[in-house]
Amino acid sequence: MSELDLLQRRHRAMGDQSPLFYDQPLELVKGHGVWLFDESGKRYLDVYNNVPCVGHCHPRVVEAMASQAATLNIHTRYLNDRIVSYAERLTATFDPSLDCVMFTCTGSEANELALRMARFCTGGNGVIVSSYNYHGNTTSLAEVTTALPSSEPFSPVARAVPIPCLYRAPAGTSAAELADQYVARVAAAIDSLKAEGVQLAAMLIDTLFANEGLPRLPAGYVERIAALVHEAGGLLIVDEVQAGFGRTGEHMWGHQAHGAVPDIVTLGKPMGNGFPLAGLVASRERVEAFGGRNLYFNTFGGSPVAAAVGSAVLDVIEDEQLLRNAREVGAHLANGLETLAGRHSIIGDVRGKGLFFAVELVRDRHAKTPAGAEARRVVNQMRQRGVLISKIGQDDNLLKIRPPLVFSRADADLFIDTLDSVLREL
Ligand code: PMP
Repeated sequence: MSELDLLQRRHRAMGDQSPLFYDQPLELVKGHGVWLFDESGKRYLDVYNNVPCVGHCHPRVVEAMASQAATLNIHTRYLNDRIVSYAERLTATFDPSLDCVMFTCTGSEANELALRMARFCTGGNGVIVSSYNYHGNTTSLAEVTTALPSSEPFSPVARAVPIPCLYRAPAGTSAAELADQYVARVAAAIDSLKAEGVQLAAMLIDTLFANEGLPRLPAGYVERIAALVHEAGGLLIVDEVQAGFGRTGEHMWGHQAHGAVPDIVTLGKPMGNGFPLAGLVASRERVEAFGGRNLYFNTFGGSPVAAAVGSAVLDVIEDEQLLRNAREVGAHLANGLETLAGRHSIIGDVRGKGLFFAVELVRDRHAKTPAGAEARRVVNQMRQRGVLISKIGQDDNLLKIRPPLVFSRADADLFIDTLDSVLREL
């Protein structure tokens, strides 16, 4: 069966709009560590996927999943020590004020629940998001989504604010001025909700602003907007679906770099290394107050198998010292990307940390004209040469580099060499 036949069958059975990567979609049959394999046995270096954070099909995660599935897998209305132990272990990685977890299956459900909780706890319903955000696929999230097309109209009780990036700051604007200007945009959003009689419930942000393109933030920006949101009686919800589980190498959670303790944290993707496991973390007071008026029941979220998998992921992160790996290999990767920037003028900026980078491609370094078509060619050429990356950002001109946390220096070198040759031939 050719890839084309499979694609046609997919279109017939699943519709032709379900998204696939690459001009020539890739059929994968096997994964191991940082490697993915197609049906011919050709291997691809995975420099994109954060879901398999401890590596594809990690034997300890697979073993935990299989052995718990062979012992007990049941919905979540029974007592089970594995689930409670996982909840205790997970919450211990947060600020002491964030001491209670609610499990879901997806990041979308976690963000939807976070919005419900914020609305319940504040009595408000206004929401502020970034002007290029994606937090999930439910109706209330579609109503505030700005990064993907959606037929839901943008919510009249939501406001979208731009996120500052030092790389794109107008010449002559200092970091402090940029922070002032963009903090003022959040203040204006709060005022505009107030003017329409809407009480703020929450500001929902990704702690790395990943979909926005990992902007270089001016110092103090997140801390200052958190203070404004709290002054207005709202809660700060931080989405760790992309930034969490040690991605930055500095901390377990992206928000820990910002100096502002959030009210609700949402988790997903890497949490189950591919098993659908997600959730939110908040104070016990908030979780119990919400639960007192809303019976929230999630059939599969935090099942015994989910808890076994989640615990195994935490074991591997600790035992294989993956934060340290993200830091060290990330520093090596950053050097490699900077070297490429010295060689290829199409690279306008390299930003990120740990094992998450955005490489901004521009047609002209001075005018910073986004090179979206070129980024697409690079991503597709990399795929042809056996290295998988993707693109992000409003202008689709940033290469998204976010490999599993078990990425090695040798993997980084192979990636850099391949990117070098693709850029040379662009
Ligand atoms: N938040 C962020 C930042 C995401 O990137 C995504 C998925 N791309 C989600 C939430 C939604 O997660 P899920 O697909 O598991 O519902």
